[in-house]
Amino acid sequence: MSDIDRQAPRKRIGDELRAYFGTSDMDEILSILQRWHDEDGGCEATDGCWVEPDGTCPHGHPSWLRKLGLV
Ligand SMILES: [Zn+2]
Repeated sequence: MSDIDRQAPRKRIGDELRAYFGTSDMDEILSILQRWHDEDGGCEATDGCWVEPDGTCPHGHPSWLRKLGLV
């Protein structure tokens, strides 16, 4: 596996995060995720559904916390 192949998944997540949250600033994204978790008790899935922090929506999309490996 080349270096490019190894780096591709990380870059793809970066692109997804930027598209979804409108920023690539991880501090900003983490503060949003933290607020969802602490104040709202859930998390948006990658398709926008509201799910448990470590959940997966009915369409098979994981919560962002789950996708990022934070839960
Ligand atoms: Zn969904």
